[in-house]
Order: sequence, then structure tokens, then C-alpha cells
Amino acid sequence: MAQHRIIVIGAGIVGVSIAHRLSGDGARVTLVEAREAPGLGVTAASFGWITCAAGDDSVPEPDYRRRLQAIEDYARLDRDFGGRLCAPCRGAIVWGATEDETRGHAQGHEERGSVVRLIGAAEIAEFEPMIAEPPALAARFPRERALDVAHACILLARAAREAGAETLFGETVLGLETTGGRVSGVRLSGGSLAADRVIVAAGAHSAALVADFMPDHGIATSPSALVTLSVESGRLAHVLDGGGIEIRSRGNGDLVAACGVEDDLDDRALAALASDVLSRVRRLFPGMENPRVDHVQLGQRPMLADGRPLVSAARDPEGLYLAVAHPGVILAPEISRQVADFLAH
Ligand SMILES: Cc1cc2nc3c(=O)[nH]c(=O)nc-3n(C[C@H](O)[C@H](O)[C@H](O)COP(=O)(O)OP(=O)(O)OC[C@H]3O[C@@H](n4cnc5c(N)ncnc54)[C@H](O)[C@@H]3O)c2cc1C
Repeated sequence: MAQHRIIVIGAGIVGVSIAHRLSGDGARVTLVEAREAPGLGVTAASFGWITCAAGDDSVPEPDYRRRLQAIEDYARLDRDFGGRLCAPCRGAIVWGATEDETRGHAQGHEERGSVVRLIGAAEIAEFEPMIAEPPALAARFPRERALDVAHACILLARAAREAGAETLFGETVLGLETTGGRVSGVRLSGGSLAADRVIVAAGAHSAALVADFMPDHGIATSPSALVTLSVESGRLAHVLDGGGIEIRSRGNGDLVAACGVEDDLDDRALAALASDVLSRVRRLFPGMENPRVDHVQLGQRPMLADGRPLVSAARDPEGLYLAVAHPGVILAPEISRQVADFLAH
């Protein structure tokens, strides 16, 4: 692999993870990103929860195993980065509308391999003193993690550079170039950049880049919103999912809340969503000083049609790969592993 010239298009969490992995393996990598810095696509709006516990336990078995693996992968990566890659986070605390629901949730996840323990109100209050009225019962997942993802992208891109990768930020790939049934490079505004392998990791924008070569790419988008709040004091030690909110503290002390949305929202609807999050924060954590909405981001998450592999190779031209997946933060280390495997054969 070392002699191949590899271009990775897109420096979101997926692209930087691939560039980090391949350059660490000794490959010749160039990471090309349209924006001025890594992690500014949908990745910037990510909640960044590395989780099995989110939602119910009905995720299909292979996906569940990948999520368990992701928790291990990020633990290892975080160690490699001296504890600076992941956000400070002691795990996740999750509760349902009833105690039975919480019990069922914990049991379902334990049976599938998650490390989880039921905790009562007193223990919840010890772990998270900001919760004014803790539920009677919650499930604690001590191994789950969180990432301030844009920051993690900067660290991963820097480490890739230190391992020999080139990074071209502020350069948009206008098209792919092929010669004799093989990929031969990409077209930039200033000319061509030659390569033997091109990995398209441009999130939702990947569809346009590969449309001529992989018309059945299966990429779609689905909106989701992230509300960022600043607080003068008070922070959460865990990701909390309960009481109608999914929320955590970032490394810088801001709170972020992820909100599933049905459809694209206009500015008024987003403002209403943010105001609802703010009222919940005030109600759940009255001890947090002066919470204020800082901003709301609506992100278009790249999704894949059911059954599509995380990484696929084009039949024609040879040497072209597509790397898109949901949930992209969780799956980025697995995607990187799969890309490395593809390139090794
Ligand atoms: C509110 C919200 C909450 C979320 N929560 C979670 C979560 O808790 N856990 C989780 O795993 N996932 C979560 N996700 C999903 C996750 O954020 C995405 O799956 C992931 O960020 C996708 O990363 P990506 O690298 O594929 O895409 P992107 O971040 O969009 O990166 C693609 C990059 O390619 C660049 N690009 C595009 N076209 C070109 C071009 N022609 N030339 C050069 N560069 C180009 C873009 O500028 C961009 O930087 C959440 C998403 C949202 C919106």
C-alpha cells in the first residue's frame, strides 16, 4: 500500500479517521477538504455520542457489535492521544418514562453485551448532582463515551500530517479523473491531482461525486438538530438521555442537546425547538447558572439505504471507493479499518 498515491476526499470525522489510519499504516495520503479546516461539515453539528444505549435495543446484531467495538476503538484512540481525543465523560445515564421501561432497556442491552447497571435516585444524584429531581431508576453505561467531534477532527488530521499525510484544506474536488478503466486522480480548480486510489468520504456530497460511476450509491440525507447552550457554572459528567432530552456537557463547559426532527425546519421552528430545550434545561438542572441558547444547527446526516456496505468499491473505474455511513462518528474507526482492508488486497 505504501507506494500507492491515495486521495481521501472530505475531512469530516469519516475522512480524517481514514487519513489517520492509512497514514499510520505508512500509506501516501492526501486529504482534500473544501472547507478551510476539518470537521466543519455535518460533523460540526454532531452530538458525538459513542453509544449502544441510545434508542431501543433493536439495532440489528452486526450493527450492535460494531457499536460495541466502536466504544473499544475510541477508548484505545483516546489513550493514543493522551486522553485528549474524547470529551471528559463518565459514561451515559439513560431512563425511560417508567421504571419498567428502564429495567427492560437495561436488560435488553446487557443481553447484547453492553456493560450496564441499574442505579437508584440517590446514586443518580451522586453521579449527577445537577439533576434536581432524579428519576427513581436509571441505567448507567459506564463505558460509553462522547466526542467533541470537530475538535477530534483537528487532532486526527494533525496526527495524520505528522505521520506523513498531506492536507489540502480550502480545495474543492470538482470531479474524478479516470484513465483506461482506473481512477487516475481528482480535478481541482487549479488543475489535476494524480492518484492511484481515491476514497470519497464527502458525506452527503459524496452522492454527486460518484453519481457517474456508482449510480446505485444509496446515499440519502436525514435532518437532525443540535442546540448549543452556554452556562456560567454547572456541568454534567455523563451523557444523559431521559426526561425528554438527550444532553451532555462539552469539554469547554457548553451544553449540547440533540433533537430528532421530522423534517427540515425553518428558522422559526428551530428557535421554538431551542426555546423548548432551554425550558427543559432550566427545569431539570435549576442549579445551572444562567443557561442561554448559543446557537442551533440543523445538520443533514448522510444515510445509506438498508443493506449497503459502509465501504464499497466501484467496479469501473478500479481504485475508486465510497466511504459513507450512519452513525458516522460511531462507525468512523470501523470504516477506516474496512478501507485499510480493501487497500491491502
Ligand atoms: C444533530 C446531530 C446529532 C448527531 N449525533 C450523532 C451521534 O451522537 N453519534 C454519531 O455517531 N453520529 C451522530 N450524528 C451523525 C454524524 O454527525 C455524521 O454521521 C457524521 O458527522 C458524518 O461525517 P462525514 O465525515 O461522513 O460527513 P461530513 O462531516 O459532512 O464531512 C464531509 C466533508 O467533505 C467535504 N466535502 C464535500 N464535498 C467536497 C468536495 N467536492 N471536495 C472536497 N471536500 C468536500 C465537506 O466540506 C465536509 O467537511 C449526528 C448528526 C447530527 C446532525
